[in-house]
Amino acid sequence: MTYVIAEPCIDEKDKSCIDVCPVDCIHETDLMLVIDPGECIDCGACEPECPVEAIFPEDALPERWAPFVRVNASFVAGGAPAVAAALAEHNG
Ligand code: SF4
Ligand code: SF4
Repeated sequence: MTYVIAEPCIDEKDKSCIDVCPVDCIHETDLMLVIDPGECIDCGACEPECPVEAIFPEDALPERWAPFVRVNASFVAGGAPAVAAALAEHNG
């Protein structure tokens, strides 16, 4: 299990979440911020900090945002460009 950042973060990027993450696993990309699922320790500290409620535990992620599990995870493989590619695929 990990925490996932979903669509409401796009273009919002308020970054309140970054400040509270104890393991610095939240990364900025061009369009949104993402959580590295391998580094996240599931502490939940980021979730209440987000002003647009974009952060969810993976098992509570609304179904319509299920593709964001992959969008967040793609950062590990290819950084910001991989996140952009995964988002483009999600948006069709
Ligand atoms: S606090 Fe929310 S909107 Fe702001 S960067 Fe983090 S996930 Fe995105
Ligand atoms: S749940 Fe904790 S470790 Fe994971 S991204 Fe949020 S603040 Fe960081």
